[in-house]
Amino acid sequence: MDFSDYQAILLDLDGTLYHEEHALPGAVDLIRRLQAEGRLYACLSNSTSSPVRITERLMRMGMSMDPDHVYSAAAATADFVIQTYAPRPRVFNLSTESIREMLEGMVDWVQRDGEPCHAVVAGSQTSVHATEERQRIALGLLRKGAQLVGICADRVYPSPRGLEFGVGALSAMLAYAANCQPVFCGKPQPVFFNKLCQRLNVDPKRCLLIGDNLEADIMGAKNMGMKTLLTLTGVTRRRDLLAIPSEWQPDGVVEDLTEV
Ligand SMILES: [Mg+2]
Repeated sequence: MDFSDYQAILLDLDGTLYHEEHALPGAVDLIRRLQAEGRLYACLSNSTSSPVRITERLMRMGMSMDPDHVYSAAAATADFVIQTYAPRPRVFNLSTESIREMLEGMVDWVQRDGEPCHAVVAGSQTSVHATEERQRIALGLLRKGAQLVGICADRVYPSPRGLEFGVGALSAMLAYAANCQPVFCGKPQPVFFNKLCQRLNVDPKRCLLIGDNLEADIMGAKNMGMKTLLTLTGVTRRRDLLAIPSEWQPDGVVEDLTEV
């Protein structure tokens, strides 16, 4: 496959480049090739971790790159909060240590119910920042008008123990209790792809996205006018393509990245 028609190559991570702690077939070679050809590329994830932490994980799988080449839903959330509530956002962190690291020094942290608060950032329910006590504080802040910002809208995510409640599930619970509307910053939301393309300084219509998820990757990218390539190493089976209308079909399908 020739990449010279594209300004940037966007690669999903989980189910596309890796599964749990191992690289999927062709992933390491594809990254090396993009680097050797000097292509602009970015690795994408709905992860609640920062690009720095994700880069460390990729390195353990033989894919070394600068954190600038990784964009996660957590990073998109940090960008959204900083730009939306400038000059000095007031934030309650109900999400991850990564969110704290990325926003530290750029926001004022809300600690208690009753303090002025622009945004409550929601992440995984298992995070140390999402204890029952902190969920109650978040509820109070949301009922007084703070914006609920979910890192991504994923209902569930896979872990070695099985399916876990996703960020979307925790956000839905909070939104229901507080009677408010959440905004989400991960794939497939346009805000994710817009902030990514802003960072890369590229036209979405001249990008190729390679991913394994029909909704989060292919539909999200097609909404932006990107070209799309589906890999069958993740959550999608070939028969799943029969159930979706022609406008959401990927532009190409591969069994795995060795075909790229
Ligand atoms: Mg994926």
